[in-house]
Amino acid sequence: MNRAPYYILGPCAAETEEQTLATAKAIAQVMAQQGVSHWIFRAGLWKPRTSPTTFQGIGNEGLAWLQRIQNELGLPCATEVATPDQLRAALDAGIRHLWIGARTSANPIQVQTLADALNAYLANSSEAIRIYIKNPVNNDPALWIGNIQRFQEALNLSPYEGESEGVFAVHRGCNHRPCWEMAYTLRQQLPAIPLLLDPSHMSGDVHQVASLCHIAEQLEYDGYMIEVHPDPAHALSDARQQLTPEQLDDLLIGQSPTNRTNISGATPLRWLRQMMDEVDNELWNAIAKRMEVSRRIGAYKREQHMDIVQPTRYEQMLAARLDWAQSHDLDANTVRAIMDALHQASIRIQQ
Ligand code: PEP
Ligand code: MN
Repeated sequence: MNRAPYYILGPCAAETEEQTLATAKAIAQVMAQQGVSHWIFRAGLWKPRTSPTTFQGIGNEGLAWLQRIQNELGLPCATEVATPDQLRAALDAGIRHLWIGARTSANPIQVQTLADALNAYLANSSEAIRIYIKNPVNNDPALWIGNIQRFQEALNLSPYEGESEGVFAVHRGCNHRPCWEMAYTLRQQLPAIPLLLDPSHMSGDVHQVASLCHIAEQLEYDGYMIEVHPDPAHALSDARQQLTPEQLDDLLIGQSPTNRTNISGATPLRWLRQMMDEVDNELWNAIAKRMEVSRRIGAYKREQHMDIVQPTRYEQMLAARLDWAQSHDLDANTVRAIMDALHQASIRIQQ
């Protein structure tokens, strides 16, 4: 798709009327300076928070704030809906951009309920609606794809074609890992669905937003959903991941302090290389974790006056691994070499 990037920008949550309006105005100024005339303002009203003791979102009261932004600033607004009541309340308030959050997306019954509620609503209305479906919190491409199909089928909504209604996919990763493979699967199976990156929830870290956007640009994503807050340190949710409007400006002019690593190769090879880098990250994290456990075992052995090298134990581990290698079509010599290297490193750390 060769059109200008699609932007959905705004705070994690609408907190107060002042904060919501100030954020919309500040972003509008940045976007005007950047010459971007079309973008969507986002703000969550009903927040799916982990703990019930934290801010749960302002709820219905914030709908009027979004209406003000639509009417006074002329900005289309988006919010998350997780129940049919929320969906109807948002639509009744004139909100035409709705996103399905990652926690809702993990539950196909809930997604179907929402698709049915939207279907029923649209039976009496010819409004053009856009639905943005986040990937589920678990790494499950089939579930994400299924959710998109539920909306497409229930509503006869086609992928966005640059005009009115449409279904979009939003890639936000799982557990602060990108899970590139999940998005690549979606891209291959539903190539017409626009794919947006949400670097804010993907990383949970404001310092990673720019480099993730740079990767998405090279993987030919269609746009971005990015959290922006005028005072992120005091945000009532997701304080560590929201950009200030100034940081958004830097990001858009490509001057963010980011290591702009170029991924070489054609687009499919770039995807595969991102996937490999992610696997390598996991591998090295696992190795670091293994060394930490090994250090603890070393301390225990010292306390108990045990020998560091326990040959029977290593033989058992190696045999189990070689068995596993056979059933996973891995070369035994490679597995033995890696196990030996890990074992030697463990011995060194325990000395
Ligand atoms: C959000 O966009 O604020 C949000 C809650 O996202 P997610 O569902 O991706 O966690
Ligand atoms: Mn958020």
